[in-house]
Amino acid sequence: MIIVGLTGGIGSGKTTVAKQFEALGVPVYIADLEAKNLMNKSKTIKRELVELFGKKAYIKGELNKQFIADIIFNDKSYLQKMNSIVHPRVAKHFEKWMLRQDTPYVIKEVAILFENNGYKTCDYIITVTAPKELRIERLLMRDDTTKAKIEAIMKNQWTDDEKTKLSHYVVDNVDLSTTLSKVVDIHEDILKRI
Ligand code: ATP
Repeated sequence: MIIVGLTGGIGSGKTTVAKQFEALGVPVYIADLEAKNLMNKSKTIKRELVELFGKKAYIKGELNKQFIADIIFNDKSYLQKMNSIVHPRVAKHFEKWMLRQDTPYVIKEVAILFENNGYKTCDYIITVTAPKELRIERLLMRDDTTKAKIEAIMKNQWTDDEKTKLSHYVVDNVDLSTTLSKVVDIHEDILKRI
């Protein structure tokens, strides 16, 4: 099974592009979403996160994201500890999910594909880009957040230049219909290559 990694900076439009691939019949695995599901459902992960962060890590069985984000913000070592609990489980879940797919390739959307070295396990990589100010504008519309928070996350991510150098395909996601036709081109090219 061919794995096509899909990545891009915060607010670039990864999920929007992933949905366009899905509409073409390509199975899509959204790693952040699956990680969130596992953190809310897996008893083992829940137990280990409570051991790490304390009982306040969950409120009525739901992950207390704000509480955890505050701890990580003050001590970055907690992020690594949390990742070592969650990432291996997501990797296993992805392997199992992949076995159920019967298409020539699958899309794996990972926000930090380069930053966590996940790109090394992908056959092809697509990076979604968009101008920084446009990304900020979109995120302020979508989320209850601030420009400062978005910029802090951007600072911890690779730049578009760094990502595109290591990518097989780049989707410049400004106008939705141009993005869709680029996605169709990439889809056809991947099918040709494999
Ligand atoms: P995150 O980094 O938070 O996971 P993302 O990269 O997956 O975000 P999306 O959620 O796909 O980005 O897009 C961010 C917001 O911008 C969404 O509200 C989406 O509907 C909107 N958006 C994405 N692409 C476009 C576009 N080409 N034109 C207009 N709006 C767009």
